[in-house]
Amino acid sequence: MHTATYQARPDVNAIIHLHPQLTVLLDALGERIRLVTTDHAFYVRRIATTPFHPPGSSALAAVAAAAVVDGTNCVILAHHGCSVLGETLEMAHRRAVNLEEAALLTYRALLLTGGLAGREIPECPTDFVDTGTV
Ligand SMILES: [Zn+2]
Repeated sequence: MHTATYQARPDVNAIIHLHPQLTVLLDALGERIRLVTTDHAFYVRRIATTPFHPPGSSALAAVAAAAVVDGTNCVILAHHGCSVLGETLEMAHRRAVNLEEAALLTYRALLLTGGLAGREIPECPTDFVDTGTV
């Protein structure tokens, strides 16, 4: 996945892949992460999402790379995590921190406004749960 992303984005020198829980949860719920603060807007700017593909698969590598070819630096991988890109490792880290902070504020805002009432909790696709294979 990292190799495919570097090939898609020659301007990028750092990719951080991580599993931020609120970011993944909101994506699973179909909720768009809102960029509430100026830091969120400055560092994150746009968020791409991909459908579920097993971790380590070539399909996941392909959709993750395709999601950032337009200059997007934050891509959420359904039921898995995210990849955050930067010209430097420091910038990729700042983007990763701000992505999860934006998810936290979005989550709190949805709780405060009742935006999650009545929702079912989405789970990892059953084929992957049953086999655990990639
Ligand atoms: Zn992962």
